[in-house]
Amino acid sequence: MSNDRPKAPRHRGGRRGMMLVLSSPSGAGKTTLSKRLIMHHPDVVLSVSSTTRAPRPGEVDGQDYFFVDHAEFERQIAANEFFEHAKVFDQYYGTPKSPVEEALADGRDVVFDIDWQGAQQLAEQAPRDVVRIFILPPSMKLLEDRLRKRGQDSEDVINGRMERSEDEVSHWEEYDYVIVNEDFSGALDELEQILRAERLKRQRRPWLRRFVDELMNERR
Ligand code: 5GP
Repeated sequence: MSNDRPKAPRHRGGRRGMMLVLSSPSGAGKTTLSKRLIMHHPDVVLSVSSTTRAPRPGEVDGQDYFFVDHAEFERQIAANEFFEHAKVFDQYYGTPKSPVEEALADGRDVVFDIDWQGAQQLAEQAPRDVVRIFILPPSMKLLEDRLRKRGQDSEDVINGRMERSEDEVSHWEEYDYVIVNEDFSGALDELEQILRAERLKRQRRPWLRRFVDELMNERR
């Protein structure tokens, strides 16, 4: 009898992907965390944003961002190609829609490295799919040190970013989860726990209804 048991499909194909939105002040480690999460989980993909800001040394077009000029950004807004877009540090950032929709439909989870404005917009548009995670630094001093060590920005830019960091942190209560990035491996572990628990949520596994019907039929 146990041989006839219905097989519980695994998450790929068995469910729609979810949208993991990661926000934090600059330098709190969310970019490294999201990249590592993707390395460990081939069924999780990163949403690559478009931006009007200039590439930093080492950044690759199409990989870190799609680096576009203002005219192209405006065109993408007019063509309704963004899920959300926002002005951050006087530059424009936007999440291209179609790669995200394709990944979700394919049962992949998508990670978004975006600010609180983007998190709000995505949560309004897709409340069932969005999981919001805020990454906090252990101290603001450490955040400033990390920004300086990165050595990619001028003093003015660093000061501007620290002001902006306070603004970003003020939105922490709008998020479902908060991770304090005191040590990288601990923070990554917490992020992976969130991923695992969210994947197990009943509403993310529509196949369960059929599975339970079949279980009940075994008794008839
Ligand atoms: P950075 O210039 O340091 O790469 O990013 C600056 C800020 O913009 C970060 O908080 C980052 O998460 C945010 N950001 C990057 N891409 C997007 C996006 O597509 N939409 C929104 N709303 N914010 C973004």
